[in-house]
Amino acid sequence: MSAKRHILILGGTTEARRLAGTLAADPALRVTSSLAGRVARPRLPAGEVRIGGFGGPGGLARWLREQHVDALIDATHPFAGTISSNAAQAAADARVPLLAVRRPGWVAGPGDDWHPVGSLAEAARALPALGERAFLTTGRMGLAAFAHLEGMWFLVRSVDPPEPPMPPRTQVLLDRGPFTVEGERELLRRHRIDVLVTKDSGSSATSAKLTAAREAAVPVLIVHRPPPPPDVPAVEDPAEAAQWLRRTLG
Ligand code: NAP
Repeated sequence: MSAKRHILILGGTTEARRLAGTLAADPALRVTSSLAGRVARPRLPAGEVRIGGFGGPGGLARWLREQHVDALIDATHPFAGTISSNAAQAAADARVPLLAVRRPGWVAGPGDDWHPVGSLAEAARALPALGERAFLTTGRMGLAAFAHLEGMWFLVRSVDPPEPPMPPRTQVLLDRGPFTVEGERELLRRHRIDVLVTKDSGSSATSAKLTAAREAAVPVLIVHRPPPPPDVPAVEDPAEAAQWLRRTLG
């Protein structure tokens, strides 16, 4: 039997991929990254990779026990609330130490015209008062919230093609970050965007649109994050997570 310590990283983010790269280089560790399987051709991290759901918190707890996981790191996207809550429950049940990697949210600066909302549904309610041509960067899964807005035009950017329901006047742009300010500026100009809708993902890879919106005086509807599960220690970046792991494994 191998004496390697087994680390499970719940992934799907740049931070998770970076962390897997750092940890997989350590010969004392066995590193498994778990992806949900939402993206057709994901960028694969270093180390082992498993893809697909665990079957709720019970399934994840079973996986932690059966695979002899020594530490669990939840490096999922800040809006992936279900898996984070499952991770908290499963780690407690299986008595496996858990750490969350949570990148900080975006902060409005001078010149920003941000309108914070609590959900995509709230964003859809507020949208018609702010503009007519919206740039939606909220992911392909949440388009149903905007499907009834027949009078508005939408530019939707996503990694894989979105599925209906979606607004009738929609142009889809398949692309994946990181994005540049120059590119975002040009996109807003070319499509005559007058309102931007985004989730507060807080990633530097996708923040260029906020700079471009500020420059063009385009208002931004920004959806707040769901609350993280209580009592889960959290750090902001992969380097801090690697330090936590060293302390935790002793
Ligand atoms: P979610 O709503 O929190 O999770 C729904 C279900 O998907 C979970 O109950 C779990 O199924 C499965 N799942 C989610 N993440 C998983 C993972 N890393 N490994 C294995 N199973 C996973 O998640 P979501 O918002 O759909 O996000 C799915 C994935 O995409 C996450 O890994 C996240 O990091 C990434 N992502 C999400 C967003 C976003 O805006 N939500 C943006 C970029 C990337 P079971 O209950 O069967 O275990």
